[in-house]
Amino acid sequence: MTCNKLQTIYCGTFHAFHVENVSFDLPEESLLQPFWNYLRSNYQDTLRSPLFPIVLSVSNYFLSVALYTFLDVLAPRWNCINKYKIHPEKSVSWNNIWTTLGVTTYNHLVYIFPAAVGQWYWRPSTPLPKDAPGLAEFVFGIIGCTILFDFQFYLWHLLHHKIGWLYRTFHAIHHQYYEPFSLVTQYLSAWELFCVGFWTTVDPLILQCHCLTTWGFMVFNIWISTDDHCGYDFPWSLHNLIPFGLWGGSIKHDAHHQQPHTNFAPFFSHWDWLGGTSSAHCHSAALKDRSTKRKRQ
Ligand SMILES: [Zn+2]
Ligand SMILES: [Zn+2]
Repeated sequence: MTCNKLQTIYCGTFHAFHVENVSFDLPEESLLQPFWNYLRSNYQDTLRSPLFPIVLSVSNYFLSVALYTFLDVLAPRWNCINKYKIHPEKSVSWNNIWTTLGVTTYNHLVYIFPAAVGQWYWRPSTPLPKDAPGLAEFVFGIIGCTILFDFQFYLWHLLHHKIGWLYRTFHAIHHQYYEPFSLVTQYLSAWELFCVGFWTTVDPLILQCHCLTTWGFMVFNIWISTDDHCGYDFPWSLHNLIPFGLWGGSIKHDAHHQQPHTNFAPFFSHWDWLGGTSSAHCHSAALKDRSTKRKRQ
């Protein structure tokens, strides 16, 4: 593209395009390109393996659960942690930890491990495109997949609460805990685990995401699902950062475990607003104090 004098400064690294008399400059190369180049040149075989998405998801799940469980163990003695619990009077016992960890380990050994071996055996290697996704494409891809997943799980969840047989057979196990903690995230029946895994895999394909966006969504989905069940309400939790109560997060999902006919959507609030299934929810003691102080000022 030819450049006039003013644009010459930018022409080395930027493309320019014009609409009427206004010109815009767009980066020629994605901001993620250096990172993508680094990954491709150093970890090509790992990234291409059909096992990689599973290893990425499982390792992120155990990492997030380990961090929250560490807080759960310290919380009864450390008030600086306990004050952020939604139910500070209820501590997570070792019995709770071993029971949920037992079911999680069973699910991983009996269902996820054979699925991983099947993928490794039958699925072709992942092609790695030369170009990284644009930063906006990466971010909006993850948001798009999250919105789609939220809708799919909302419908599944609603159905599995409204139809008694579905609830008793597939979803009741997840509701054995009234005050969830991180390990309850995958305290699930095989059918629920399969549906969640299926949507996480298929949604980026439906939205034709770049493989880097797909992996970003998988990791993000793991962390927000664990956050939903963590039982903490931190000032930096997404539901306290995203305005207008649009993000349900741990406080609204905790309310779902307390009042199971409300708050069916896992992440966003809009489907429960539209369906009239939103319910009252509690903040942690620390954040209640903060909002009371704000009201007094
Ligand atoms: Zn739950
Ligand atoms: Zn439920």
